[in-house]
Amino acid sequence: MTQYVFFFGGGKADGNKDMKDVLGGKGAGLAEMTNAGVPVPPGFTISTQACNAYYASGGKLPGEVDQQMDAALAKLEGLQGKKLGDASDPLLVSVRSGSKFSMPGMMDTILNLGMNDRSVEGLKTKTGNARFAKDSYRRFIQMYGNVVLGIEKDKFEHELSAVKAKHKAKTDVELGEKALDEVIARYKAVVEKDTHHPFPQDARQQLVGARDAVFKSWMNPRAITYRKLNDIPHDLGTAVNVQTMVFGNMGDSSATGVGFTRNPSTGAREFYGEFLQNAQGEDVVSGVRTPQPISELQKVMPKAYQQLREITTRLERHYKDVQDFEFTIQENTLYMLQTRNGKRTGLAAINIAVDMCEEGLLTKKEALMKVEPQALDQLLHPIFDPKARKGVEVAAKGLPASPGAATGAIVFTADEAVAWAQKGKRVLLVRMETVPDDIHGMSVAQGVLTATGGMTSHAAVVGRQMGKPSVVGCGALDINAKAHTLKVGGKTLREGDSISIDGSTGEVILKALPTSASEVIQVVEGRLQPEQSPIYQKFEKLLGWADEVRRLGIRANADVPKDAKVAFGFGARGIGLCRTEHMFFGAERLPHVVKMILAAARGQRGIDLTRRLKERLKEAKGGQAAEIKKELAKVEKEYGKHVKDYTTALKKLEPMQKADFMGLFKEMHGSPVTIRTLDPPLHEFLPKREELMVEIATLKAKRGSKSTIAAKEKLLRAVEELHEFNPMLGHRGCRLGITYPEITRMQARAIFEAALAVAKKGIPVKPEVMIPLVGHVEELKRQKAIVLEAAREVLGASGSGVDFLVGTMIEVPRGAVTADEIAKEAEFFSFGTNDLTQMGFGLSRDDASKFLLYYQEHGLIERDPFITIDAAGVGLLVKTGVQKGRSVKKDLKIGVCGEHGGDPASIRFFHEVGLDYVSCSPYRVPIARLAAAQAQLEGSASD
Ligand code: ADP
Ligand code: MG
Ligand code: MG
Repeated sequence: MTQYVFFFGGGKADGNKDMKDVLGGKGAGLAEMTNAGVPVPPGFTISTQACNAYYASGGKLPGEVDQQMDAALAKLEGLQGKKLGDASDPLLVSVRSGSKFSMPGMMDTILNLGMNDRSVEGLKTKTGNARFAKDSYRRFIQMYGNVVLGIEKDKFEHELSAVKAKHKAKTDVELGEKALDEVIARYKAVVEKDTHHPFPQDARQQLVGARDAVFKSWMNPRAITYRKLNDIPHDLGTAVNVQTMVFGNMGDSSATGVGFTRNPSTGAREFYGEFLQNAQGEDVVSGVRTPQPISELQKVMPKAYQQLREITTRLERHYKDVQDFEFTIQENTLYMLQTRNGKRTGLAAINIAVDMCEEGLLTKKEALMKVEPQALDQLLHPIFDPKARKGVEVAAKGLPASPGAATGAIVFTADEAVAWAQKGKRVLLVRMETVPDDIHGMSVAQGVLTATGGMTSHAAVVGRQMGKPSVVGCGALDINAKAHTLKVGGKTLREGDSISIDGSTGEVILKALPTSASEVIQVVEGRLQPEQSPIYQKFEKLLGWADEVRRLGIRANADVPKDAKVAFGFGARGIGLCRTEHMFFGAERLPHVVKMILAAARGQRGIDLTRRLKERLKEAKGGQAAEIKKELAKVEKEYGKHVKDYTTALKKLEPMQKADFMGLFKEMHGSPVTIRTLDPPLHEFLPKREELMVEIATLKAKRGSKSTIAAKEKLLRAVEELHEFNPMLGHRGCRLGITYPEITRMQARAIFEAALAVAKKGIPVKPEVMIPLVGHVEELKRQKAIVLEAAREVLGASGSGVDFLVGTMIEVPRGAVTADEIAKEAEFFSFGTNDLTQMGFGLSRDDASKFLLYYQEHGLIERDPFITIDAAGVGLLVKTGVQKGRSVKKDLKIGVCGEHGGDPASIRFFHEVGLDYVSCSPYRVPIARLAAAQAQLEGSASD
């Protein structure tokens, strides 16, 4: 028999913290706390398997679940000495969702279940607190009505406001018993009108309804969006926790709150959180009322506060991580309702991991596992330019919920945010409070600003998790969402007006402000001393530990010295890909590139013909020689000009390339620099056909100069000649170098000249010449011959002390599956996983968005294969390439230089298949360092 229901209570639980898959995070936490003797209201967890069974059978549950649930309920009633729905002393429970990964506010929770017309009277008599009993009942109808019966929240809010107005009450707390009776009557009428049934009075029916509603909520749109944004699989399911209610709304000696054992925004070691007196849990998290900071709790309920500190400190040590907890105090007695590892900003993650290690709470290896590699990115986000910031008036101040600077046009709804963002506008989402339904708007906004809510409100929690600058609880904002206006500091702003927020200070500024580089970037770029930046020091300390652990080398994709310098500063030790064509686009170079292209076909033919004739001339006898000389003259006449244009353009480019490469070598201080020979199809360097046609037509209409028109027409002819139907599979990569060997020769010469020049200055150099798009060993063999010839020309027979390698990219499927052949010629491999994905899947990267998104949304594929390597397919090509390559050369150096080189999940894969290094964009180097260390640690843990 499958166990679907797990009990916790009376100091013992069926489950524990390691059962998140079955119990969900919340259920596992409740079980663990119960076992640890922490005061937790007893209850039981219905497992995620029940949820999956529910979906598998189209919304029905196996009979066993009901039986086990009834048995657990009976046990709970026995333990509490109360019965659900009882008329004199009712047991009340909450019904709470909770999946393996926490999804704050994404699914629904129901409190005070078991209330009905009779039990409310029982509760009133038993507690002698009429206001409390009635308030609990009205809350229950509202929540049950919304979550289970699907009635809009507004309909209840509307009635509540009406009664408040009638009784001249500003807040709920001011409503007396009579007024609450009226609310209850109105609520019941709302339910009856909407569902054509009276509000359910049977407590067990309520329980079944609530349980099923939680299961259903797993598939609600906001939960689905949240999972997508966070890469959480859709088939995990949620558990349901049924737990005895405790009450924070029993008067001023009661309270409810949430908190963190450390500051989740900065990581500072301080007790952090907020609470509300005389309130129920969701009041704090929903952001409806702005709560008090937790330090105040020490004043109003010192004993409970002390106990809370002790318990949460114990929990932090127990879990070896920051705890995010929920508690309720019922008439001075403390209960813990939830604990979990707290979500945090990247800044906090680093500070906490390093601090906890130095406090002896974590080993270095454990500390490394505490930081999400992706989160490091947040430390590179811009801050407001200090100069521009100076003297600018602060219009309002809210709570600094998630650090970072954001500027954008204000919008008042999530849908507007999406609409504006799709038009390419930078927007800032301004809301009274954010709710889980706003998630799509938050994800496209630069930042989020709310008028209500505390540091643990939805906007704050989700903002931190997304690394999105957020300011919350900014009471000075007067938002009129209907009129699309925002009044603040005597000014009225409209949708589209620019403002700025600083999520590190909570400041709101009514204009767009320029941003500047983050502290870490300033240090890396040499504009700030490491000693001046504590956060840089922690960042580097943690990454230093990562370097001690990881096996994978980390290189960067960098084309120009400036990027190479940044990459080195971030810890890259080598360049895995220098795309030489990027240097061709410089304003002073492009004209020569165009000249080279225009002359290439005929120029190369002239060179080839001349060379062949000259060889024949050497062996020619008598009359033959004269014949050949005549031929030569003919070739000279026909091709001479093209040869000259071609070689002159190449000669112009050579020193420019040399200078670029020297810069790269210097910035890499002796680490290897992989330079790829020309890759893209040549038409990419020429103007677009349509543009040229328009230009020519305009010139003609305006009677422009004849020679200009002629030049443009010549260019147009070249563009038309170079036109390809499928350029990505066309004349590019080594195919260019093979048909135009002079280009490869020029580039190889430039590389070796640069290497020699730098080496002569006493700086070590390690050039690696990389031939792209090789699918057949013969392609590599011939390109390599040209490179080696250039090396001999430049470096001499001795090599002049310059150590270099010639290798190839493996990015064509045929290259991967014949890697054993190719390895005979290659001194290294570098997987170009962008092209390999493109060709492996047979889908064009530039056109795929039209259907890839559909694929993802409809579950055909889980992730975008251009972001995370498709391990089963494209990954198998990589694996095959590695095995075949190393079967020929045991120590063949192998890396990857596609975008995947900076993606943590892909890095894990590359680690597992035994690559030597990954290469990624300079700004992703820190992520790659950490991800590589984690891959190593995870690997050795499972060995
Ligand atoms: P979420 O997963 O959205 O945080 P929870 O299940 O934690 O939802 O419930 C929301 C709020 O309801 C919590 O803040 C908690 O304080 C309150 N709550 C839940 N169960 C109980 C209970 N048994 N007694 C008192 N308050 C409760
Ligand atoms: Mg909770
Ligand atoms: Mg490629």
